[in-house]
Amino acid sequence: MHIEHHVNLATLTTFHVPAKAEKVARVTTVDETREALRAGGPTAKILGGGSNVLVTRDVPSLLIKMEIMGRDVLSESTDHVVVRFGAGETWHACVAWCVEQGWGGLENLALIPGTVGAAPMQNIGAYGVEQDRCFDHLEAVDRTNGEVQTFHAADCAFGYRESIFKHALRDRMVITHVAYRLRKHPEVHNDYADVRLELQARNITHATIADIFHAVVAIRSRKLPDPAVIGNAGSFFKNPIVDAAYAAVLHATFPTMPQFAQPDGRVKLAAAWLIDQCGWKGYRSGDVGVHVNQALVLVNYASATGTEVVDLSNAIRASVLERFDVMLETEVNIW
Ligand code: FAD
Ligand code: NAP
Repeated sequence: MHIEHHVNLATLTTFHVPAKAEKVARVTTVDETREALRAGGPTAKILGGGSNVLVTRDVPSLLIKMEIMGRDVLSESTDHVVVRFGAGETWHACVAWCVEQGWGGLENLALIPGTVGAAPMQNIGAYGVEQDRCFDHLEAVDRTNGEVQTFHAADCAFGYRESIFKHALRDRMVITHVAYRLRKHPEVHNDYADVRLELQARNITHATIADIFHAVVAIRSRKLPDPAVIGNAGSFFKNPIVDAAYAAVLHATFPTMPQFAQPDGRVKLAAAWLIDQCGWKGYRSGDVGVHVNQALVLVNYASATGTEVVDLSNAIRASVLERFDVMLETEVNIW
């Protein structure tokens, strides 16, 4: 296993803020993952594509970069295929590959940056679909004993940007492979407003999964900052979920506030709308700011530090709390 020293983390994370990792091990197999975990001990950190991490200081412990590759069909029937990806595979490339094969289920999740291994961590979601919709199982190395464990959906406590790996099993499981059960006769999910409008603009009435894929790629390319150009980690905050009684109070005071009823009776609010109402959209101070098109995305224009981003996020959280009495929770992992 090759270990690099004094690695610039600005190149390994999409916020591109300055920080150094003392040691980085790139692992390409399960055995190398185990070896790296033994070498790094309990403080070793795991990194995929670095698109959901904000680094605020140098990392003194071993950083294990997941680079296990591979795409294998595990089983196939007339209706379904179960395909297993290495954790280091690029998420978007795998989605594009599935769409090319005609296997449906992941197309609404096109162009989400990062790796397959990180997808279950926060149960990535976009345009009305979350990865647990097609999730079959994952394999992970348990850091406490080096054994590989298999988790099925029922074991993962998937929720809105949530999983067991962020809570009860936080910092314990290193995901090496993820398998999805995809449809050979796909259903399309085109009920999300932006997707519907994009399909209309393209005169598509009976959308295929490829149509959805291309529509999502087009919408995202227009609206979201490309991390290769402007540093960011996507939505900095989660959309808050409040109880129905408080949602009604908010609706009475702010009738235009977007609200989305949840299956459990609670109500999801759009954090971007709350932040925008507080006047932050397009804000910039030095090299740190709030994206002009999407108020949920904090950005590093050039040489902002992680601490500056955190300070801005605290100011935004305070103003949303003061105006709406709603506490924003951070989605990005802060190191
Ligand atoms: P990293 O940032 O490297 O890691 C994230 C966390 O997971 C860290 O805590 C890390 O320790 C842990 N981790 C990573 N890999 C493993 C592993 N194999 N085993 C155990 N732990 C691991 N997210 C959405 O949900 N929906 C979106 O639509 C979306 N859009 C985005 C748009 C932009 C422009 C950007 C920059 C980000 C967006 N994100 C979105 C956030 C991000 O892309 C996802 O959370 C993605 O899954 C992170 O993958 P990654 O490999 O970069 O993870
Ligand atoms: P948008 O369409 O402007 O909508 C704003 C918010 O309203 C979204 O956060 C979305 O919640 C919610 N929403 C809209 N229509 C909804 C519906 N029919 N049912 C339930 N909730 C609805 O959002 P956007 O900023 O352009 O992002 C588009 C999609 O990409 C969203 O799903 C968003 O989550 C995802 N995205 C995620 C990240 C990230 O880093 N996590 C970054 C960029 C984009 P949801 O977020 O729950 O969908």
